[in-house]
Amino acid sequence: MIRLEQIKKVVVSGSEDLTILHPLDLEVPEGQFLSIVGPSGSGKSTLLGLIAGLDAPTEGRVLIDGVNLVELGEDELARLRGERIGFVFQFFHLLPSLTALENVLVPMEIFGIANAEKKSRALLDEVGLSERTHHYPSQLSGGEQQRVAIARALANDPPILLADEPTGNLDSSNGKHVIDIILGVHERRGMTIVLATHNMELARMSDVTLALKDGRIDHPETANGTVGAAPDVPAQDAQTPAAGSSGQ
Ligand code: ADP
Ligand code: MG
Repeated sequence: MIRLEQIKKVVVSGSEDLTILHPLDLEVPEGQFLSIVGPSGSGKSTLLGLIAGLDAPTEGRVLIDGVNLVELGEDELARLRGERIGFVFQFFHLLPSLTALENVLVPMEIFGIANAEKKSRALLDEVGLSERTHHYPSQLSGGEQQRVAIARALANDPPILLADEPTGNLDSSNGKHVIDIILGVHERRGMTIVLATHNMELARMSDVTLALKDGRIDHPETANGTVGAAPDVPAQDAQTPAAGSSGQ
């Protein structure tokens, strides 16, 4: 269970304080697939970064299964992240000097997982890349790189998968393939997924959609995958990387 309590994020911009997330509460029960939609700059990446413990809130608590990330030291945070959270980025963030297999192996080696190579091969097989294990990222298409990134995010079998516009940099057929893989992962593994997207087709497949606007919840969560009014999010915007999006 992910629980955010009165999370607020303020950054200093020049001589001014800029509130990029206004106090908000959010609960994501175990096994839920939550999508976050909203215009570029609405705070989606900031929210995901807080859930991942990659960024600290100015105020409020971030609880992962009752553990408040805000109170953890760097080492404890890194361990919790490594064991419990997989992260997929818009721009893949693979290590260019490592093969697909080696990229998936890295998080396993950090935690001394047994049979790491066999498990990595199985993960690449799960994302349909068993023929690409020895390819370097530069030898793979964007869609294939994102599938390697998904396999890497699953390396330590975490209960939570966070994804920031995972199809935002892909053409529609590669985007569709990545969507199918994420949906399959959710179904087979019952993972909790929080995914930011401009792709309304993808948002509609989630259990619950949260719309953000200017760092606030734009309308309350809508159950059963029905997306309520989400102004400024064009339905056909599936392939266009958001201008100004950090890709984080
Ligand atoms: P989204 O992912 O929805 O596009 P972000 O969470 O990346 O939105 O950003 C929300 C807003 O906060 C944007 O206006 C962005 O420019 C601003 N922002 C994000 N991080 C910082 C930062 N470190 N310093 C200043 N402004 C930031
Ligand atoms: Mg973003």
